[in-house]
Amino acid sequence: MSEIRNLPDIFGSDVFNAYTMKQRLPKDVYNAWKRCIDEGTHLPLDVANAIAEAMKQWALEKGATHYTHWFQPMTGITAEKHDSFISPTGDGRVIMEFSGKELVRGEPDASSFPSGGLRATFEARGYTAWDPTSYAFVKDASLYIPTCFFSYTGDSLDKKTPLLRSMDEVSREAVRILRLFGDNETKRVIPCVGAEQEYFLLPKDLYAQREDLRLTGRTLFGAQPPKGQELDDHYFGTIRTRVSAFMQDLDEQLWRLGILSKTKHNEGAPCQHELAPIYTDANTACDDNQKMMAIMKKCAAKHNLVCLLHEKPFAGVNGSGKHNNWSLSTDTGRNLFSPGKTPRQNARFLVFLAAFIAGVDEYQDFLRCTVATAGNDHRLGASEAPPAIVSIFLGDELNAVVQSIIDGTNYHDPEKGTLRIGVDVLPSIPKDTTDRNRTSPLAFTGNKFEFRMLGSSQSVSGPNIALNTIMAEELGRFADVLEQAEDFDAALQKLVCQALTEHSRIIFSGNGYSQEWKEEAARRGLHNLPSTAEALPTYVSEKNIDLVTRHGVFTETEFRARYRIHLDAYNKVVAIEAKTMIDMALHQILPAAMGYARELCDGIAAKKAVKLSCWAETGIAGELSTACDRLYDHVQSLKEALCQVPVEPEEAALYYRQVVCGYMEEVRRQADILETLTDKAHWPFPTYSDLLFY
Ligand code: ADP
Ligand code: MG
Repeated sequence: MSEIRNLPDIFGSDVFNAYTMKQRLPKDVYNAWKRCIDEGTHLPLDVANAIAEAMKQWALEKGATHYTHWFQPMTGITAEKHDSFISPTGDGRVIMEFSGKELVRGEPDASSFPSGGLRATFEARGYTAWDPTSYAFVKDASLYIPTCFFSYTGDSLDKKTPLLRSMDEVSREAVRILRLFGDNETKRVIPCVGAEQEYFLLPKDLYAQREDLRLTGRTLFGAQPPKGQELDDHYFGTIRTRVSAFMQDLDEQLWRLGILSKTKHNEGAPCQHELAPIYTDANTACDDNQKMMAIMKKCAAKHNLVCLLHEKPFAGVNGSGKHNNWSLSTDTGRNLFSPGKTPRQNARFLVFLAAFIAGVDEYQDFLRCTVATAGNDHRLGASEAPPAIVSIFLGDELNAVVQSIIDGTNYHDPEKGTLRIGVDVLPSIPKDTTDRNRTSPLAFTGNKFEFRMLGSSQSVSGPNIALNTIMAEELGRFADVLEQAEDFDAALQKLVCQALTEHSRIIFSGNGYSQEWKEEAARRGLHNLPSTAEALPTYVSEKNIDLVTRHGVFTETEFRARYRIHLDAYNKVVAIEAKTMIDMALHQILPAAMGYARELCDGIAAKKAVKLSCWAETGIAGELSTACDRLYDHVQSLKEALCQVPVEPEEAALYYRQVVCGYMEEVRRQADILETLTDKAHWPFPTYSDLLFY
C-alpha cells in the first residue's frame, strides 16, 4: 500500500471539481457552469460541448478509456454502462471523441430496472441526463458522469431526480421565510447531510462457506456463541492490523474521489466498524454515500475481507444502521438550525424548529416508510436501534424553551411572564457532542437533527427527500401566514406557539426502548408501525400523496411506483431468505446432524456388543433425532407456506411477515439446537464463534 505523504494533493485528484474546472475551462464557460449551479439556470449546448471536451482531456490524462452515465435506479444501488471514447477515422485507426450531447444525455437500454409499472417493456427506453451539480470522476479507467434517470414519458425512474426536486422546494420556501426576517442576500438554502455508515468485515474464506451470507447478506442460522458483545470490548477498541490496512486503503480511495472521509472506529458488535464523512449538500452526500458503499465492498475484497452492509448480519449482536445528520444552510454559510445570539436570530431558529417539529409529527408515517425494508425490520425496535415509533428528542435546554413557549411562561424568570419570540433572548443551548439519548429516532444535536432509523444498506436519498419535502411544506404554510401579517412579531409569536402546542406529542425524551413508551405513544396517537408490511401501506395515504405532488417532488404515478417497488422488494427478499433456509436445512444441516447421529448409533451398537455404558451417546443421539424430526417438520411447513403466498402484493407482504417469517423462526430454532449438539467436525459451515472472533 502506498504511503500518503501529502493528503491535500491527492484529495479530489480523481474528480472534475470546481478547482479543476476553473483551471481547465475557458472563463466564460466556467462562469456559465457556475451560474447553472448557483441559480439553477440552463446550460446551453455550446457550453456543454466545451465542458465535455475539457472533461475528456482530463479523463484521458487520468488513464480513462471509457465514460459512463452513472445513475441511481430504484433498486437502491447504482448502475453504469460503459462506452469507450473511440471513434474510427476510416483508415483503420481511432481517435478519442466525446461530445456535449454525449455528456448531457444518454440512452441506456434499461428495461430490466424496476419501474413499479411506470413502463411496459415494449417502451423500455430509459434516458439519463447529466446532473451538473454533482462532480464527474474517474474510477477504474472510466469517466463517471452523475446523471438522473427517467422514462420516455418523463417520469423519474431514479432516486436522484426527486431528491433534487425536494432540495429546490425546501430552498424556495426557506428563502421566503428568510426574506421576512430581512435577509435579502441569501439566494439558496441548501439541505446538508452527513451520513455515518456502519458495516461489518469478515474474512473472505469464512464468508464463502456460508450460503446464507452469499445469497442474502445475513446469517439465517447460527447458535449464540459463548461470547457476544456483552463486555463492550470492541466499541472504540484498537483496530486490528488487517482491518486497519483496509481502512487506510479505503480512506485513500475515498479521498482521491473527493469524499470527505473523516472518522473511523470500531463499533459495538465484534467485527463491526463505522465511517463518518464530513457533511456536504444532500445531493453530494447521497452520491458520495453510494460511492462509499461500493468502494468499501471492492476494497474489502482486495484485503481478503468481505464488507457486509446488511442491517442485521448476526442475531444477538448489534446490527448496522446509518445516522443521517441533516440541517439547512444558507448559500452564505449560515446554519438555520443554529440557535443564534440575538433575539432576532433566535426567532428565526424557532421558526425552523417549529416547522420541523410540525412536519415530523404530521408526516411520521412518511418518514417511517422511507426506512422500511426487510433488512431494517430486524433492527428497528430491537433495543439496539430506535423504535419503529417516530419521535423527536430535543435535550433539556430546548425542551424547557419549547415548554415555556407552549405554557406562555418565561424561561428565565417566572415573574416576567411570557417569553416573547424575537424580543427576548433565549438561553444558550449547548452544542451536543455526545449521543445523549441513543434511543431516539430523531435527535437534535446542537445545530442539526440526527435521523437514526436508516438501515445501513439503503440509499440516503429517500429519507432526505422526505425531510426536505415536509420542511418545505411547513415553511411554506408559515410563510403564507407571516407574509400576510400586519404585526409580524405578534403573528410570529402566535404561529410558533400554535405549531409547538399542536405538535408537542411528537417530542419525547425518555427511553424509546421501553414498553411504557409504546403504551404512551399509543395514548398520544402516534403511529407504531413495527414492520415493513405494516408500514408501507401508509406511504400512499392521501395526505402523503398530496404532500409530494403539491411540491412537485413526485407525480402521483411516480410515488405509487415507488410504493410498488418497495413492497415487491420486501416480498422478494423474504422469499429468497426462506428458500435459502430450506436449501441449507435440507442439503447441509440435516445431512450433517443425521450423519453424526448415525456415527453415534454405530458407536452405541459397538459399545453394547462389549457391554460398555453408552449413556452420553444415547442421550445426544436422542436429542439430535428429536431436533432433526422437528426441523424437517418446520421445513415442510415453510415449503407449503411458500406455495400459498397471496398474489396481491400488499396481502403478500403481510403474509410473508405473519406466516412465512414465523416458520423461518421455527426452522432456525431447531437448526441452532442441532448446531449445539453436533460434533464441530461435522458442522457444514463456520459458526458465530468462527465468524465473529476469527
Ligand atoms: P457525533 O454524532 O459523533 O457527535 P458530529 O456531530 O461531529 O459527531 O458529526 C456527525 C456527523 O454529522 C458527521 O458526518 C458530521 O459531518 C455531520 N454534521 C455536523 N454538522 C452538521 C450539520 N450542520 N449538518 C449536517 N450534518 C452535520
Ligand atoms: Mg452521531
